[in-house]
Amino acid sequence: MKFVSFAKDYIVYKIHFQKALMKNILLLGSGGRECALAWKLSHSPLCGNFYIAPGNAGTSAYGINLPISYNDFEEIKKACINYKIDILFPGPEDPLVAGIYDFFKNDPALQHIVIVGPSKEGAQLEGSKAFSKKFMGRHNIPTAAYREFTLDSFEQGVAYIKRSTPPIVIKADGLAAGKGVVIAANTIDAVKAFRAMVMDKQFGESSKKVVIEQFLDGIELSVFALTDGTNYVLLPEAKDYKRIGEGDTGPNTGGMGAISPVPFADHAFMKKVKERIIEPTVKGLKAENITYQGIIFFGLIKVNDEPYVIEYNCRFGDPETEVVIPRLENDLVELILKMDEGRLNEVKVQYSEKAAGAVMLVSGGYPGDYAKGKPISGLEKVKGSLLFHAGTVNKDNQVVTNGGRVLAITSYGADIKHALKKSYEQAELIEYDGLYYRKDIGWEF
Ligand code: AMP
Repeated sequence: MKFVSFAKDYIVYKIHFQKALMKNILLLGSGGRECALAWKLSHSPLCGNFYIAPGNAGTSAYGINLPISYNDFEEIKKACINYKIDILFPGPEDPLVAGIYDFFKNDPALQHIVIVGPSKEGAQLEGSKAFSKKFMGRHNIPTAAYREFTLDSFEQGVAYIKRSTPPIVIKADGLAAGKGVVIAANTIDAVKAFRAMVMDKQFGESSKKVVIEQFLDGIELSVFALTDGTNYVLLPEAKDYKRIGEGDTGPNTGGMGAISPVPFADHAFMKKVKERIIEPTVKGLKAENITYQGIIFFGLIKVNDEPYVIEYNCRFGDPETEVVIPRLENDLVELILKMDEGRLNEVKVQYSEKAAGAVMLVSGGYPGDYAKGKPISGLEKVKGSLLFHAGTVNKDNQVVTNGGRVLAITSYGADIKHALKKSYEQAELIEYDGLYYRKDIGWEF
């Protein structure tokens, strides 16, 4: 009897202890990236109550969707207080670039909340191309040669374009929903793009300043690091496929699929990436007293075996997250807590040996105009793969399309080819009016 009562007490004690360690989490965003993060976070034994704002039809399987915009700081604040949030995880860049970190840290009611993401200043690595180019210059991080121009230096900009060898890359300085980069095949198109941005204010404030840079010819990959401001851990690398059409043709999209690992990112190449890019970036941020605890996304290009930075992002990528997170074997909540304590040096990151391949199912017409509200069928038939929702919503007990990118199907395999084969088999089970996906993700490998 005595032993039974002791055992009961022990179990009750353990449950209380476990509960005390659990963290309430609010994840911001509504895409495939957030669905993959929701899947991962919600499976952590350290995850307490879990909320997503605003989420999608898929995230509601892992937590509670809150009808709050991820840019509405006041509403996010209310939710954090109401739901006793311990960790805030902004998925997209907008709230980070707009300064959600500083908003929280300057408010005594919110200061204690762990934010997975940099300060407003740190988020400038993504929020301003001119800022990131200067940062790379100060820390000798390899990137394309460039100059920056505004309306005041318009004529100098045109002269610079005329002196450059096409193709010429024209970039709006600020955020432009992924549309702010033009790769002009000749000088005339380059001047046109430059004029549209700087003179006609194509992207408003975001294109008041423009970066004109050298075109780098190579193969791209994305590398992700989680940093606590001093140490970092490397997460699995990935490659995404941006063009709408097969054979990498047609307009750019948010991303039509992704793979991980990236075959050419071997040990020797990643050693260069760490030594020349990741370490100088983390050290540079610290040396400049830029508060940065969160994800650094390195958009890289390999030119003749040498890595160059194309861009930084201050958050996870989409659809890369849909392959990176499934290959990460560590508990993500534990990694976040180690990040908060500045103890990422104690962590050993484990990746799955298996490859992951994601195929994005999109709406007909995307990335141009497309219809929403199309009923989706076959979701329950997907078995043995991960189904991450992106642009979906529940309407009268029916999942309907609600965006350009609708669903990501991720599968594991012994290699990329086998993983993608499985994703394509599952993609055939899904139906909605206008459904389209690229059938050649991972084609080079
Ligand atoms: P970004 O927004 O800077 O990542 O640019 C969007 C895309 O444009 C990149 O993913 C590249 O495919 C391409 N790009 C940007 N800068 C360059 C460059 N200097 N050389 C070649 N391609 C580039």
